[in-house]
Amino acid sequence: MNYNKISIATIAVGMFAAGSAFAQNAEIATWSGFRKAATSFTFDDNAPNHVTHAAPAFDEYGYKATFNLVVNWNPDWSGFQKMADNGHEIASHSNTHGQNMSGEEASSKKSIEGKIKQKYGTITVAYPNCNVPNVSALQQNYIAGRICGNGQEVMGKDGPSDWFRVPAHMTGSTGSFNNTNAFTGAMQQAIQKGGWVMFLTHGFSNAGNNGNANYSPTDLNAIKGALKWANQNDKDIWVTTFRSATMYIKERKASKIEAQDGGAEGTMTFELKHNIADNISKYDYPLSIRVKSDWKKVEVTQDGAALESKIDGGYIYFDAVPNAGKIVVKNADAPAPESSSSAEPESSSSSEAVESSSSVTALPIQAFDDRHTSAYVDASGYITVQNAQGLNITVFNSLGNVVRSTKGIGCEQKVFSGAKGMYVVKVGSKAWTLNIK
Ligand SMILES: [Zn+2]
Repeated sequence: MNYNKISIATIAVGMFAAGSAFAQNAEIATWSGFRKAATSFTFDDNAPNHVTHAAPAFDEYGYKATFNLVVNWNPDWSGFQKMADNGHEIASHSNTHGQNMSGEEASSKKSIEGKIKQKYGTITVAYPNCNVPNVSALQQNYIAGRICGNGQEVMGKDGPSDWFRVPAHMTGSTGSFNNTNAFTGAMQQAIQKGGWVMFLTHGFSNAGNNGNANYSPTDLNAIKGALKWANQNDKDIWVTTFRSATMYIKERKASKIEAQDGGAEGTMTFELKHNIADNISKYDYPLSIRVKSDWKKVEVTQDGAALESKIDGGYIYFDAVPNAGKIVVKNADAPAPESSSSAEPESSSSSEAVESSSSVTALPIQAFDDRHTSAYVDASGYITVQNAQGLNITVFNSLGNVVRSTKGIGCEQKVFSGAKGMYVVKVGSKAWTLNIK
């Protein structure tokens, strides 16, 4: 398995168990899951077939894409809301799709946020006709803005030179990006460069209703082929939204991981912090971390909540959120009798390829890498989980009794509705405390 070798922060931690010294290194991955590159697919002009055809093509692999809506072009709000609930990004493409969206920077964001509920709000934008509007208005409302192609579509690890001129390859009949090889070629370039490549698609030449998205129709099968290739190369390429890639880069560049002194024997404690402040995003996308260690079994927590972790090749891997509390890595390698049955095996999705021969304490790598499991109480009072396919889901009431036990089946799943009060939901190795009001 190849990992990006760029070390963002190298730190030494102290003396630990049994008098042996572990001079440990902690690194923040260049890309989520220590992949070599990232790619983002963006779709403009709210075509009906973005809901009916594009999103399902991404959902097949659990991938997320970005959909840029024109407020006045009658988007299928409930269809796009379902996509947002499933982790896709809904972003702005202006109110009117005029020649230049100046004056609509804030109002289009506000209109979309009035219709679409998503964790981060509407925080990226794609400019109609690729004309950059008022930059200070952009900076007050968005973390990044997309233009069209500019010859620099394959960016480096730190992204574009200007966050409000992020380039993307235009796909479809007007250019060369209308077959799978064109997409995979660009992704391979990104892998070679250790960078990021974005694509810009309108409607399709062969699938459903394009609505107003008539410009440069793309062969949907070319995109499906690209996603299949990406899935086959999942250890190298991270398919994610414009929003997540932007957050990841900004956080990674600004974050430091530092060891703290004075932990208990057999533990390592870290702080992962940045000080980005732009009032638009909290920049709390999880960063992938690895710590060099010869421990064979570990438990990793952040602010007391369990994190998924994995041991492979002399490293402990986990994802943690910056500015979200202490990360504690505990040596859990008790010389337990072989009959120990405490480790309940996690079932896994069907397509992962775990190369590790060492112990896997939580989930296989695919789930570890890019599964942003979440749990929340929805508007109708249901405890709902996302991205829990194949994981054990357990709901405890405030007395600690199990009130529901089930298995993750879909991207979004209502699992429990009951009396008002506090509940703990455990999904795989993560847990949430939720309040049904
Ligand atoms: Zn457009």
